[in-house]
Amino acid sequence: MIKKSNQQLKKGNFVKKNIKMATKRLNAYQDVLNREPKHIEFDGKLSDLFGQNVFHIDVMREYLPSETYKSMLESAQNGTRLDRKNADQVASAMKDWAISKGATHYTHWFQPLTGTTAEKHDAFFKPIGPGKAIERFDGDLLVQQEPDASSFPNGGIRNTFEARGYTAWDPSSPAFVIGKTLCIPTIFISYTGESLDYKMPLLKALHAIDGAAVEVCQYFDKNVNKVNATLGWEQEYFLIDSALFNARPDIMLTGRALFGHAPAKGQQLEDHYFGSIPERVNAFMREFEVESLKLGIPVTTRHNEVAPNQFECAPIFEECNLANDHNLLLMDIMEKTARKHNFRVLLHEKPFAGVNGSGKHNNWSLSTNTGVNLLAPGKNPKSNLQFLTFFVNTIMAIHENAGLLRAAIASAGNDHRLGANEAPPAIISVFIGSQLSQLLDDLEKNIKAGKMTPQDKTELKLNIGKIPQILLDNTDRNRTSPFAFTGNKFEFRAVGSSANCGSAMIVLNTIMAKQLRVFKKAVDARIDKGESKDEAILKELQSMIKNSKKIRFEGNGYGDEWVIEAEKRGLSNLKDTPRALQIWHDKNVAKLFDEMGVLSPRELDARREIEFENYVLKIQIESRLMGDLIQNNFIPAAVEYQNKLISNVQGLMHVLGDKAGKAAAKAQIEIIEKISMHMNKMKAASDAMLEQRKIANKLEHAEEKALAYCDHVKSHFDEIRYHADKLELLVEDELWPLPKFREMLFTR
Ligand code: ADP
Ligand code: MG
Repeated sequence: MIKKSNQQLKKGNFVKKNIKMATKRLNAYQDVLNREPKHIEFDGKLSDLFGQNVFHIDVMREYLPSETYKSMLESAQNGTRLDRKNADQVASAMKDWAISKGATHYTHWFQPLTGTTAEKHDAFFKPIGPGKAIERFDGDLLVQQEPDASSFPNGGIRNTFEARGYTAWDPSSPAFVIGKTLCIPTIFISYTGESLDYKMPLLKALHAIDGAAVEVCQYFDKNVNKVNATLGWEQEYFLIDSALFNARPDIMLTGRALFGHAPAKGQQLEDHYFGSIPERVNAFMREFEVESLKLGIPVTTRHNEVAPNQFECAPIFEECNLANDHNLLLMDIMEKTARKHNFRVLLHEKPFAGVNGSGKHNNWSLSTNTGVNLLAPGKNPKSNLQFLTFFVNTIMAIHENAGLLRAAIASAGNDHRLGANEAPPAIISVFIGSQLSQLLDDLEKNIKAGKMTPQDKTELKLNIGKIPQILLDNTDRNRTSPFAFTGNKFEFRAVGSSANCGSAMIVLNTIMAKQLRVFKKAVDARIDKGESKDEAILKELQSMIKNSKKIRFEGNGYGDEWVIEAEKRGLSNLKDTPRALQIWHDKNVAKLFDEMGVLSPRELDARREIEFENYVLKIQIESRLMGDLIQNNFIPAAVEYQNKLISNVQGLMHVLGDKAGKAAAKAQIEIIEKISMHMNKMKAASDAMLEQRKIANKLEHAEEKALAYCDHVKSHFDEIRYHADKLELLVEDELWPLPKFREMLFTR
């Protein structure tokens, strides 16, 4: 019967064969099912590979005259400038070493505010006469370059003043060879000296924290003369097959699925987390780890994450600037390696609605030249007092600057993740565990207001002396907090997976530097008034414990009760990027960054503009693409299927008569109506969005525009998607144009 009516339907010309997109999807999926793992040939020891392609200290010693080597070390450690002669020597050694590794080109490698890295390659090769050439690279080329970078975001700095920007060598991060190119880590600044990247303010923030922390350390140990911030990031990411990626214009262009119905099987079973890693994925991981190790990135950990097809990798922590360079490098290597394995890496914070998003936990601590981790409890009361000093100052810094930390992690992508499935909310709070909470509460109570007796002090010290045992037994690890103490470091979990850690690390180290300065001043004032050093420190700790209480939260950060409680406490919960970024207008913020020597008010203004602009661009692209996809893909597919149903209904009516035919076609008619309803509503929402986009585009100021995009354009996304996803469920599988979640999320 159906066959017959199908034939009539063809005669009736209701079906126009146009299943190109759908065929593409089904062919892609067939490819995926046939894929085999691509193992690399490597059986040796990983330790033999480590740092193979890095111009590190040992290589320098080998390649440089000893005087130059010494100057280079000094420069790497303290940021001092190399003189011309030494710079030439270093350049020449770098070139010889790089050529021995097969390099033909060099590049200044930098981190513009777009969030990725940039490079412009030049050849070592230089013609010196007819048919003659040499390989050339000198100090000038090493130290400074002028990339034609007028299209990098600059927040107006270069438009209004000077069109050129330049890159300058960062000797504290070693050069490396990738493929056939020598890469030299550099900062990126405008011709007038303003930073246009993440690295320059990060280096300045690290300098600020070094100075401030050393001074505080001097209360405890006169041998401390250098404090490094340390960073250990954990990179989460999704993998999808490249054929499916190529069949999803939204994922290709925005990094996330703008549409897609949740699969019947999502992450409910939690069978992916720490499950065995699929063979194909394993082969990919192994190759990118090998490549990372060659570049000196100490990656050691890999595992599945909570969502299907979500994974994580983490290295051993390093000095903050180097660790950040390594993270950026790793993201790059991952993407390149993935292609070889017919995968694409998704670093977006929320590629798939309904399952976990991806973060990049930033584990952070401070470490001294004497080998002490300042956020690890010590072995005796004195070192524990030092630990408490840095611990409580961190909490205070977060309390005073929660809004800045929120702004530091704000991005269009992270907006989808914060507060959604299994991700910290947009409320900044600090978790320290029940035992340390108890200890702080005790300290707050037990420190007497007046002068302390020797007995008071002994008791306190005894208490403080107990910290290590306390922490060893401390197993409660709250994973719902955006900023958690985890035994010997703080873990900033709200950072997004695609972010440059620099953004969070600039803020964290700057606010900590400022806080330590405030603390030092207050303690010194007490000492000047005759209090003993320990007493002065304890009293200041007490006052900070008291004043920072509202930022401490030990409960479930994912719960709705916390949102209500946080509001009562007066903590902000800024859900979208444009609002989070508004704190950059605050006069005190400008003062803080200026005082700490990290960003000038002008640089701050420029950054704020760039971030608003970035936000607008991201939402604009998503919005346009949504319009395109519904118009060009979803409506045609839905109409095609609807026509098929209509023909079938007409056929049934023809064969059975109007009444009986209609009765027989009850299900089909219902679907026909539903399809129309969803198409109409989807189109209406999309049209409304388009109108708002036109209005928003006329706005001139980046901030106004960002707010308009957030409140009036993006606000239509959910409705459009809702109807499109319903259509995905209604339309015949073979006609649906885009790969479905169930096809993308489960790699065999
Ligand atoms: P998870 O959060 O998944 O439980 P871990 O506790 O294993 O992860 O995370 C440890 C991360 O913290 C690693 O990347 C590690 O290098 C880093 N880390 C450990 N100690 C420090 C430190 N002192 N400073 C910065 N990062 C650290
Ligand atoms: Mg973690």
